[in-house]
Amino acid sequence: MIVKQLFKWIVSFFKKESNYFKLKIVSELPENPLERTLYLEGSFKEKDYWYALLKCPCGCGDIIMLNLITDTKPCWKVSVNKYPSVYPSVWRTKNCKSHFWIKDGKLVWA
Ligand SMILES: [Zn+2]
Repeated sequence: MIVKQLFKWIVSFFKKESNYFKLKIVSELPENPLERTLYLEGSFKEKDYWYALLKCPCGCGDIIMLNLITDTKPCWKVSVNKYPSVYPSVWRTKNCKSHFWIKDGKLVWA
């Protein structure tokens, strides 16, 4: 009985974690990004990133590219702990018009 409960808990724990946005630092942004993955183009060593890219989490299949270069507007900030956060929120003005936050890897609809 206890083993069964523990197993259930472990499964739900990993299910939650697998829903989080993972971070991938790449030298070239992919053409077919994976779901729930935030790609950063730039240098990990210098902690200098130029673009972030992700597949729209609403399921529409669109690819969203965010500018991280501070002297170009609009511009976003990505901070990374165990999971990435994106600031400010992503608000699409066309197609699905999704508006969401990514906070510590968690997707929060606005
Ligand atoms: Zn969408």
